[in-house]
Order: sequence, then structure tokens, then C-alpha cells
Amino acid sequence: MECTDKALILRTGKFREYDVWVRYISASRGVQTAFAFGGSRSRKRFGGCLEPFSHVVFKVGANKTGSYQVLSEGSLIKSFNSLRSNHRKIGLAANCVKFVDSINFDNDSARRIFELLLQTLTVIDAEDPDDFFPLLFRTKVAFEQGFKPDFTICGRCGKPLFGNHNYSFDIEKGVALCVECDPALKGFAVSSFTLRTLSWIQDTDPDHWAHLHIPSEVRSECFKVMDRFMAYHLGLVWEEAGYRRV
Ligand SMILES: [Zn+2]
Repeated sequence: MECTDKALILRTGKFREYDVWVRYISASRGVQTAFAFGGSRSRKRFGGCLEPFSHVVFKVGANKTGSYQVLSEGSLIKSFNSLRSNHRKIGLAANCVKFVDSINFDNDSARRIFELLLQTLTVIDAEDPDDFFPLLFRTKVAFEQGFKPDFTICGRCGKPLFGNHNYSFDIEKGVALCVECDPALKGFAVSSFTLRTLSWIQDTDPDHWAHLHIPSEVRSECFKVMDRFMAYHLGLVWEEAGYRRV
């Protein structure tokens, strides 16, 4: 039986002269792989739909034995042309797409992660976000996966963390601690600006992030703390070419 899938293309490849495999995130079913037979020559059935980042609606069925999914046609909703014509923007978008392709998530999270990726690609296409943008996206997705620390209060005594101190962050437990509860800063040392930035990412969506200017020391602290947090909780580290499971 055929169904329709709202999709964002993660990656594609050819596997015979005209046939294409497609890896995409579906808003209702999460990350999927399917085949578009004759896809590379049929503009009528797939025009613009089989390119990375494209936002499309697919008609999806299965082969006779039900062992793999087959795309019968696609309708292009948006192709993000400004993004595609700029190498730097392609790099930012590819980073976000690779992250979605690397994490495991259940169908309940699929719609939210799909929406976040769609918003993120829309911002990269329309604006000129800085190189920090993919980290904000990864952080937001990690929070949506249920790893959602409270950065505003001490995880032990409950005191608000409003002062301009250095606090500590316990990566394993996912809690921030006040100076009294961790005087020796045994956890990961973070400034109150970093905690506020991370808390703000929790409360906002990608369309609020394009004009964000974060001082470089806060930025580098966010990178360090979130990279460790995601390595511990999602089992992923970012390397030059993509994400590696740890
Ligand atoms: Zn405390």
C-alpha cells in the first residue's frame, strides 16, 4: 500500500545507470531509506526531489516481497536555492543533516526533529548565520531527545544561578551546580553566560538564532560542554568528515 511522506533529503546515491537510493527524514516515520527507480532521468516524477536538503512529499510503496521501500513519485516543496549556491552555507547545512543521519531517535521525536531541521535549513537559506549555528542545532536536538538539563538552578540545592560566577556542570548527571555545592569546581567549569546561552537555546527555535552574537569565550565553552555532553549521552563525537559513535 502506498503512503505519502513529508521528507527532507539527507543524502542520495546512484546504484545503476538511472536508479537512485535516497536517505531522508520523514516527519512521521523518522529516518528512512528508499529506492527511486529511474529517478535520475525522470524529471516528471522526481524533478528536484532527489537532491540533498530538498523538502519534498514522496509517494512511498514497497517492492513485491515487501523487503524494501520504493518511491513512485515526489513533489518538490522547497529546494533552498540560496543555500545550494553558497559553499559555506552548504557546509553548515551538511553538518546538521549528518547529525540527524547519525543519531538514533524514536518515531515520537521524528516530527519535532524534522521541524527543527526544516527551520534550520530555512534560516541558513534566507540568512547568513555564523559557524556556531550547527552546534546550536545539535544542542537543541539533544535537548529534544530528553536530555534537558536545567541551567537556571543548582541541581543539588536548588539555588538560582544568576550571579556572574563560574559554576560547574556535571556532564554525567546533566546538572549545573552552584559554588557552595561544588566549591572545588570538580565538574566542567562554565560561566553564567554559557549557562544562560544554553538555557536560551532550550527556550527558543532556530528562527531566533540567526542574529545571535555570542562572545568567543562563551562560544568555545558552549562547544566544549555540549560536545562532551553529547558524547556521553548520545554516544557521538564530531570529527572532520562527520560523526563517529563512541
Ligand atoms: Zn547548590
